[in-house]
Amino acid sequence: MGNLDGKSALITGGSRGIGRAIALELGRQGANVFFTYRSNAALAEQVIAEVTSLGVRCATAEVDVRDAAAVERMVEAAHDAFGGPDILVNNAGMTDDGLVLRMSEESWDAVLDTNLKGTFLATKLALRQMTRARWGRVINITSIVGEMGNAGQSNYAAAKAGIIGFTKAVAREVAGRGVTVNAVAPGFVLTDMTSGLTEEQQAAILRMVPMGRYAQPEEIAPTVAFLASDGAGYITGQTFNVDGGVVMH
Ligand code: NAP
Repeated sequence: MGNLDGKSALITGGSRGIGRAIALELGRQGANVFFTYRSNAALAEQVIAEVTSLGVRCATAEVDVRDAAAVERMVEAAHDAFGGPDILVNNAGMTDDGLVLRMSEESWDAVLDTNLKGTFLATKLALRQMTRARWGRVINITSIVGEMGNAGQSNYAAAKAGIIGFTKAVAREVAGRGVTVNAVAPGFVLTDMTSGLTEEQQAAILRMVPMGRYAQPEEIAPTVAFLASDGAGYITGQTFNVDGGVVMH
């Protein structure tokens, strides 16, 4: 099979978009996959069928990553299903755009809680098992917006920049225990999250991308699979841009 044979992966927000592509890629590389969805059980069932057709096991649960008790149940359910988790991908995320002058506290909280607090909650609980096992991989999905900012996305930029800082701090905490913690920063990816942009916004985005096009979700997943593999065992605390050249470090 592949680099991740027999590993147990837990992915938040795997019913569509980038999370779905990650579920399929980790499954293709041999991992058993437990993923979550929040609102669409029918889509989640489709992903189960697609992943199991690769010859690995797959299960799902409805989870709101803002809810600490639900996240605790999620990590337990993933452990009961396939052991581990050995690999955690914090992918669940949302946007709620608006200029800061008009941004409501509710919008700020929803975006920070989903992207950043959800990442904290799942990481904290999954690390118990990983540090005990002396092997683990945490991969956090951030965004180029967390690195360069974006007008109208101060809540999202703050959350995604927070994920980068969180990744570095936790990487330092668990580096001695065989656990790596890294982030992947996609650029503009064709998913439901970007499908609502106006033509004007899309044209402005494409002018920023040296490759002159959006990414497909399948172009983000291989970097996540690499970071989850044994081959990435000496890499930690890093953010990998998969963005067609928008941000060059
Ligand atoms: P998407 O198609 O909108 O999917 C978002 C996923 O997150 C869905 O599975 C959704 O579940 C889940 N989710 C949202 N709120 C949740 C909550 N409170 N609790 C649990 N799950 C929740 O988005 P995407 O484009 O694939 O984005 C995936 C990740 O990549 C996000 O972290 C996003 O910020 C990041 N990203 C995306 C882009 C882009 O251009 N698309 C660029 C950079 C970074 P349901 O389907 O059940 O609602």
